Amino acid sequence: MFSKQTIVTLDLEGVLAPEIWIAVAEKTGIADLRLTTRDIPDYDVLMQGRLKILERENITLSTIQKIIADLGLLEGAKDFLDSLRDETQVIILSDTFQEFAYPIMKNLGFPTIFCHNLIVENDKIVSYQLRMQDQKTKVVNALRALNYNVFSAGDSFNDTGMLLAAHKGVFFNAPESIEKQFPTLESTHSYNELLQKFRIFSETLGSR
Ligand SMILES: [Mg+2]
Repeated sequence: MFSKQTIVTLDLEGVLAPEIWIAVAEKTGIADLRLTTRDIPDYDVLMQGRLKILERENITLSTIQKIIADLGLLEGAKDFLDSLRDETQVIILSDTFQEFAYPIMKNLGFPTIFCHNLIVENDKIVSYQLRMQDQKTKVVNALRALNYNVFSAGDSFNDTGMLLAAHKGVFFNAPESIEKQFPTLESTHSYNELLQKFRIFSETLGSR
């Protein structure tokens, strides 16, 4: 029997790759760059704070790009993504920027990614431009409208719209404090577990 196709949307940082800004904080020794969407749910407040720090500390785009190029992936991420892409289509939905994403995408074998842009003048990051507000949720709703069954995974506040909009959304290594605020969402803590959740989702659809 025929059933609807599945598609998976995955957050990037914290799910497949380390948190870029935490790595920048560690490499530069600037502690207040450690804050992420896990700490400050309002993305604009978070980004404006980061831009001010970059300006104050004179940190350029190329400095950050070098740090990202050395960052690597979370352990097992490439194998997990390869397994998943062997079974379904995957789109990475990230609130990072094209200017940051390239080395990570290269390490992942260039899956499709939807993200945002930085506004850069002479190697200085002066601002940023969201391609659109709340793209993660909108992409999931668009995929549903395109007749896909959508499975999503993410680790933070900026993923919860996407996770709740999907046919099935699960946390992956989210902090307990965030998990607790969204008791209807299941949690996973390993790639095996996440793959199993997807397979159960996919098989359940097939047997309907
Ligand atoms: Mg994340």
